[in-house]
Amino acid sequence: MHNFGYHGQVLHVDLTNRAFRAASMTDKWYRAYAGGALMGGYFLLRDTKRGVDAFSEENLLVFASGVAAGYDAPALSQFSVAARSPISGGMAMAQCEGEFGRYLKASGYDAVVFRGKAKTPLALIIEDGVPRFIEAGWVWGNSALESANLFSRAYGLRREAIVSIGQAGENRVRFASIVAGAGNQSMQEGVGAVMGSKNLKSFMLRSGARPKAYAPEKLIGIGAAFSGASLERMLVASKDTGAGDSRSIMERILDQYRSENPCPSCPFGCVHHIGSKDAPLAATSVNRWRAKSLARDPNPGIWLQANSLCNSYGLDPVQARLTLLFAFECAEAGLIDSDVEGFTMGDYASVLPLLTLIAERRGIGDLLSLGVWGAAERIGGEAVSIAERIMERGESHAPVREDTAFALDALSLCPYASHSRELGPEFVREILYAITGWDITADDFNRWRMRRERLKALFALREG
Ligand code: SF4
Repeated sequence: MHNFGYHGQVLHVDLTNRAFRAASMTDKWYRAYAGGALMGGYFLLRDTKRGVDAFSEENLLVFASGVAAGYDAPALSQFSVAARSPISGGMAMAQCEGEFGRYLKASGYDAVVFRGKAKTPLALIIEDGVPRFIEAGWVWGNSALESANLFSRAYGLRREAIVSIGQAGENRVRFASIVAGAGNQSMQEGVGAVMGSKNLKSFMLRSGARPKAYAPEKLIGIGAAFSGASLERMLVASKDTGAGDSRSIMERILDQYRSENPCPSCPFGCVHHIGSKDAPLAATSVNRWRAKSLARDPNPGIWLQANSLCNSYGLDPVQARLTLLFAFECAEAGLIDSDVEGFTMGDYASVLPLLTLIAERRGIGDLLSLGVWGAAERIGGEAVSIAERIMERGESHAPVREDTAFALDALSLCPYASHSRELGPEFVREILYAITGWDITADDFNRWRMRRERLKALFALREG
């Protein structure tokens, strides 16, 4: 059997019984659930019961690439992770850029569905389509980055082919993330905490072959044309404003810019490897919108160090920062103690120790591990209005274009690429045709968008 754009197989992994089962899916199913987010949402709704607890064995953790993500073209370096979220209670559909998506695409499966809970810490490796479990007790307790290093050395794998949780996921911090490669994060909705609740430390891949594309030459041509047009526009913008080039943006707003951390085959290079002059920690990957947001703070260096620590602990850095700002305001209002193990809550010096307390769920960190809303609910009173204020402030994200946003989310294409004028519906249509041979109409796009919204809405309705 050969399909264009997909393997036709989904791997079901039973962690409780250490068992595997591969299931074939129909062409019709792939057409209906073309994106990784859609595939994850489908299994979550089909295979979990009403009232499923985010940390129970019955919750699922689904890694999926979808039909387009994982090929060599702009905006395709993504994979999706779905689960019931421990922080919102809703259907998490977290995305992540970087290189892991390409490995997942070449794993032999279009989606890997984890269920159950391992009795002792485990990792899963898939080599040329063959899955096997690896004991992970010797790695448990290590940071996400160190875990990738240890497994990489022990099994001769590239770090980019490994995703892991850090201490935050192990301890079920509600905004724990899954860390891929050198610091890309599947950060939203606490998917790392779900992975930790299953005693799954890492998921590793040794590359097999990606499914054939329907028209590979066309795919290369589209990618090249897209890159050329994007770069030309960026250069024009750079000349016009002196600010269009991402490197100059980074150099202007941050004290040290180390290097780009590019996604494969994508011309934007919007994830950067940066550090701070005074940072004792390793440089960290930050996308440029977040970096700009941090640069507005009087002390961006401390937040870069915090970002680095979040990559190690496997914490969503956006939620971590909001949670700390919430804690600082609560301490100022006298709602929580302002002394943190010798530091004063609100001082910049307290940021890094507080992150450690959160990741380890010690002292005040146990309360803050619930995230802004969870902690506000626990504290009560004025804390709820502080939480509202903090969450409204939020953080800057890449601008999303209305006419493409619908397709990107549903199809697991990179949302950050939506700032590009070139990434319009025509590009998405052409790229899907080159990969799958499908003739895509505006109705298809609408159906995918609606299906994603309906999956989330049905899940929310089911859970009341
Ligand atoms: S737009 Fe940015 S984050 Fe997205 S795939 Fe391209 S380089 Fe990666």
